[in-house]
Amino acid sequence: MYNVMSPKAEEFISHEEILESLAYAQDNRNNRELIDKILDKAREKKGLSHREAAVLLDCELEDKNQEIYALAEQIKKDFYGNRIVMFAPLYLSNYCINGCEYCPYHLKNKHIARKKLTQEEIVKEVTALQDMGHKRLALEAGEDPVNNPIEYILECIKTIYGIKHKNGAIRRVNVNIAATTVENYQKLKEAGIGTYILFQETYNKESYEKLHPTGPKHDYAYHTEAMDRAMDGGIDDVGLGVLFGLNNYQYDFIGILMHAEHLEAYKGVGPHTISVPRLRRADDIDPDVFDNGISDEMFAKIVACIRIAVPYTGMIVSTRESQKCREKVLHLGISQISGASRTSVGGYAEPEPEEENSAQFDVSDNRTLDEVVKWLMEMGYVPSFCTACYREGRTGDRFMTLLKSGQIVNCCHPNALMTLKEYLEDYASEETCAVGNQLIEKELDVITNPKVKEKVIDYLANIHKGQRDFRF
Ligand code: SF4
Ligand code: SF4
Repeated sequence: MYNVMSPKAEEFISHEEILESLAYAQDNRNNRELIDKILDKAREKKGLSHREAAVLLDCELEDKNQEIYALAEQIKKDFYGNRIVMFAPLYLSNYCINGCEYCPYHLKNKHIARKKLTQEEIVKEVTALQDMGHKRLALEAGEDPVNNPIEYILECIKTIYGIKHKNGAIRRVNVNIAATTVENYQKLKEAGIGTYILFQETYNKESYEKLHPTGPKHDYAYHTEAMDRAMDGGIDDVGLGVLFGLNNYQYDFIGILMHAEHLEAYKGVGPHTISVPRLRRADDIDPDVFDNGISDEMFAKIVACIRIAVPYTGMIVSTRESQKCREKVLHLGISQISGASRTSVGGYAEPEPEEENSAQFDVSDNRTLDEVVKWLMEMGYVPSFCTACYREGRTGDRFMTLLKSGQIVNCCHPNALMTLKEYLEDYASEETCAVGNQLIEKELDVITNPKVKEKVIDYLANIHKGQRDFRF
């Protein structure tokens, strides 16, 4: 039985409710009157239910689809402006005892190089990341209680926060590790993590169990209820995601929105982010064996519909996607992207030799961070290295309050400009620097509060003189 307030995975992600929502969406895909009603509700920018959003996703009326895209773009502008937050993944270890059929780190893959970074190697990797200009990392590790116990993850976090190289500093460490216990989530919280990220992969229990035939991840309920435990452990910001391509995309689209509704209803705070990865080719993995691949067009529609359904949730797209595809979805709702990513264990300090391939998937966008930053700015976006909320304790509902207050132009925008300025001063090429300084000049006009604007101008001058780390 469907119950958004239930602590049980099979009740808050009810299979029957998803099937009924799928049928409802299908029956109404050309119901102009209903679609108009849903779009009117969406224009209030307070979100939509999973059922309403499913109707929009299935809509076949061309003019209404254009309205959906225009509305997604508007919501993106209103809540996130033209800022795009930058981050990089750091793979700590690819030892894993799970049997995930779509991931090359699965236990039975004997030809992938298994690696685990030592603390000395982490210092090298993070120094290289700092030298690129990154301030935000997403840590990734396989599940292996012997090779990657929680103590190892905690030690890595401590090492990372402690590395100061020139003007570099990692100011927010997000963590993507396997579902674990409330006690371990408490430890992660104490270690000062930002967002805890865990991809559901698919919400369809039957497919989930087939795709995860062995290892602790096989337990659908334990995995699906992980975010509730993370919040019980004190982690306010959690990041959801499904791996599009594994299962029917409409099913997982509804599932992820139901998960967001559950967190909001049951824990009082919706997800901080939603990631939209698509299955990629990798060692021992052929995406063609999974026949649920989605086209670039449908991918863009999913992004637009998620943006409309959960306006307060950030959306992440990684370097799994090509430059062209990322360009297409950025304006529809993406608020964070990774840049210059390595998906191998190590590889930032020195490129990994080909015979030692330890990558989780092939990267489609291979540009440097400088190139990505310049590309974003040339399209009119402000690349942001801001981590202010986390450092000011504005997490969970306090972060949501900021987002809902409409004060982002006087808070996020100045922070974005100041962190971009730091990037330009410390890491950018001459060309990128020129484009960036011009952009900052122009973007100052977006700040509506004259006092804030005055302060920002002053801070920018101080950054140019060598001071760092101003924030609102
Ligand atoms: Fe292990 Fe995660 Fe890969 Fe599964 S997806 S094999 S849990 S690293
Ligand atoms: Fe994000 Fe907070 Fe910075 Fe705004 S001020 S960009 S919400 S971290």
